[in-house]
Amino acid sequence: MKLHLDWSDYENAGLGDAYADIPKEGGNFAKAVAVCINSRRCETKERGVMCPSYRVSDDPELATGGRVRLLKAALNGQLGEQPFDDPQLVRAMELCVSCKGCRRECENEVDMARIKIEYLAQRNEEHPLSRRDRLFAELPQRLHRDRWLVPLIRLRNRLPLLAPLGEALLGIAARRRLPEPATAPFSGTALDSPADGHPVVLFVDSFTRHFNPAHAEAAIRVLGAGGYSVTVAQPDATDGEPRRPLCCGRTLLSQGLVEEARAEARRVVAALAPHAAAGTPIVGLEPSCLLTLRDEHLALGLGEPARQVAERAQLFEEFIAREQTAKRLRLPLKKRPDDAPPLLVHGHCHEKAVGAMKSMRKALKLIPGLRFELIEASCCGGAGSFGVEAEHADLADAMAEQALLPKLRENPDAEILANGFSCRHQMREGAGRPALHLAEVLAQALG
Ligand code: SF4
Ligand code: SF4
Repeated sequence: MKLHLDWSDYENAGLGDAYADIPKEGGNFAKAVAVCINSRRCETKERGVMCPSYRVSDDPELATGGRVRLLKAALNGQLGEQPFDDPQLVRAMELCVSCKGCRRECENEVDMARIKIEYLAQRNEEHPLSRRDRLFAELPQRLHRDRWLVPLIRLRNRLPLLAPLGEALLGIAARRRLPEPATAPFSGTALDSPADGHPVVLFVDSFTRHFNPAHAEAAIRVLGAGGYSVTVAQPDATDGEPRRPLCCGRTLLSQGLVEEARAEARRVVAALAPHAAAGTPIVGLEPSCLLTLRDEHLALGLGEPARQVAERAQLFEEFIAREQTAKRLRLPLKKRPDDAPPLLVHGHCHEKAVGAMKSMRKALKLIPGLRFELIEASCCGGAGSFGVEAEHADLADAMAEQALLPKLRENPDAEILANGFSCRHQMREGAGRPALHLAEVLAQALG
């Protein structure tokens, strides 16, 4: 079995442990699966975020450990000639929303989100991706190349016949609007910050660039006001497509397109490695994209430069919190008026998985008089494209209804903060409530 991701960090996992029960096939990938000790802690609904698909279904096969049991059976040759096509396994893996909750909350840190990428890559060898999944996988590249998609998405949301057609032809849930790209993507020009401040590189991901350019503008404004000299990351001089913006490859990885994602990651690493080598912080706004630099890029075999970039890559909230701790940050933030609404904060699953909500709390405490509350909720169900896929929309709604949407309804006057792109869309769809990015909240407080 030829593996698509680099699993060498699991080389010694379970070795010498008579109970590790490492499957026969799959090399180091099998060892990554076998770190599960079958404690079944993922089949509980205690506080925490794991495992959203189990929480809404009560089905042990849809818990992390249930997926492990099926994968082990597949890798041990117990699921027939085409083990990865076993219907139970296909369903279990399809309904993993890659939230990385297990990576943080499972006692043995089973990394099912990464395991799913390898699983999908293995399946892709035998089955071509559906048109919808390919479209979602390539959306960042298509939004740059095929600008006609922008008016088409708008029309699809407005003309009553187009959404049912999109469901019939592609499997995109007709009852859901699609997130609409901005008329013009972020260009990175006409924005300034002091030339003599501490240098910072802003990695503008594809979602911020195409859907929320205002977030990047707000971040530059905040960083500039804090005295930082901001450079927007651009393709390296040797890049074969110097005019095409950088993309972390997250959407490609989500569909198991590892080779295409590796090509995107190479461009990002080439562009950012010189900044990382100079010790410059690399800051990103969309949690799943920035954290791809820190996590999945290290499993793509890109060597030391990728590791150096990962070391410097940080979420906007992490950067603000760290600079505050280092006493380098001086943000002239105004007191929030006493009658201003409170702020409800929803963390993206990957933000929670790396413990970044502490930084979020610290960043928000910088605004005098701000009343805020972190929402206690598992995955919102948006999960990349999961929430707009026809066959998954009901499950996505059920995830959102577990805690997140009821909390929003209980607080009809609250403002909402959510740094995750799909989380914001899910809340707008489920509760009709827009949400801000932390960069916008801080920029507003600058006055
Ligand atoms: S995935 Fe983790 S929590 Fe679930 S059974 Fe395995 S070791 Fe236990
Ligand atoms: S990544 Fe999330 S949905 Fe998938 S098994 Fe882990 S906790 Fe469950």
